[in-house]
Amino acid sequence: MHTTTRRCFMLQAAATAGATLSAASVGAQPARIDEKDPQAVALGYRHDTNQVDKVKFPRHAASQRCDNCQLYQAKATDPWGGCPLFGTRQVAGPGWCSAWVRKG
Ligand code: SF4
Repeated sequence: MHTTTRRCFMLQAAATAGATLSAASVGAQPARIDEKDPQAVALGYRHDTNQVDKVKFPRHAASQRCDNCQLYQAKATDPWGGCPLFGTRQVAGPGWCSAWVRKG
């Protein structure tokens, strides 16, 4: 009986420690821009360049993506990265907004 109680305590302690570590890891992730954010809406930002409104943005091309934009602050292979237009929030590599500029 005593051994079972001790085992339960150890399992609970391990689970709690794991949950704390997971929360810390999640908390360390930079926030991602919400497509419904007013600034994102104003710039026509979408997480997927294929979802861009072609009527509103007739000059958009599917080959234009955040990960080949001059303002993308991450490696082209990173799925998410910074963009100065959205402060500390990250944009999607396959995303797009109307401020897209070809990487030089
Ligand atoms: S400026 Fe470039 S990197 Fe930033 S959201 Fe627009 S397309 Fe993506």
